[in-house]
Amino acid sequence: MKILVTNDDGIYSPGLLALAEAASEIGEVHIFAPHVEQSSMGHAITHARPLGAFRTKIAGFDAWRVDGTPADCVTLGSSRLDGADLVLSGINLGLNLGNAMWHSGTLAAAKQAALLGIQGIALSMPVPDDDKRIEALRPALPEVLDEIVGERDLPLVNVNLPFEPRGLRYTRQSVRPYDGAVVAGQHPNGRPIYWIVASPVEDLEEDTDRFAVQRGWVSITPLRLDLTDHAALERVRKAGLRSAQR
Ligand code: MN
Repeated sequence: MKILVTNDDGIYSPGLLALAEAASEIGEVHIFAPHVEQSSMGHAITHARPLGAFRTKIAGFDAWRVDGTPADCVTLGSSRLDGADLVLSGINLGLNLGNAMWHSGTLAAAKQAALLGIQGIALSMPVPDDDKRIEALRPALPEVLDEIVGERDLPLVNVNLPFEPRGLRYTRQSVRPYDGAVVAGQHPNGRPIYWIVASPVEDLEEDTDRFAVQRGWVSITPLRLDLTDHAALERVRKAGLRSAQR
């Protein structure tokens, strides 16, 4: 099995190395990852300039650092490899729960895989205070991959791992009100500056991704590429065009 490993934290992230090493147990690993951090880039692609890709030493893997976005890495990598059987993105150092899925570069790489007809799995963990936290998660990875990889019903999956997982749970995306906020501050030269932040909220909805991770479960959320609101579509179609009723 040909496995393309990428991320949005940049190719030198210890999270990517942990994932690549776990992946090497089940297939042939090729790394195509951004040369610098691309977190919160979402599903951006680079189309106004060409991409550069440079061979890089990452623990003996076939590895390429790309001056593009996570989605670019998947497109370029699968083209250079003449196809891939699986794309793994992560492990992101920072959870990608609920509404964060809209911004996540980690998830976007998995989405790009799904667009190309390749199974895409995004994996994220809380921001570690110490690299030992990443090492401690390694034993959980084989079980997670074994559960998801190759499953026909799971073409696109968002996985979030707590520091010390108790086991696996299938969840849905938490869609609580958006928690993004703007915090004002001051630049050393005196001008005003603004941080855009998303602060975690406690989730009481039991079957959600956030609820599961807060209680120590690995959250596995099956996703789809179709953004259509099918229920709304049904209703407005049934009602007919408002312009025609006037
Ligand atoms: Mn990131």
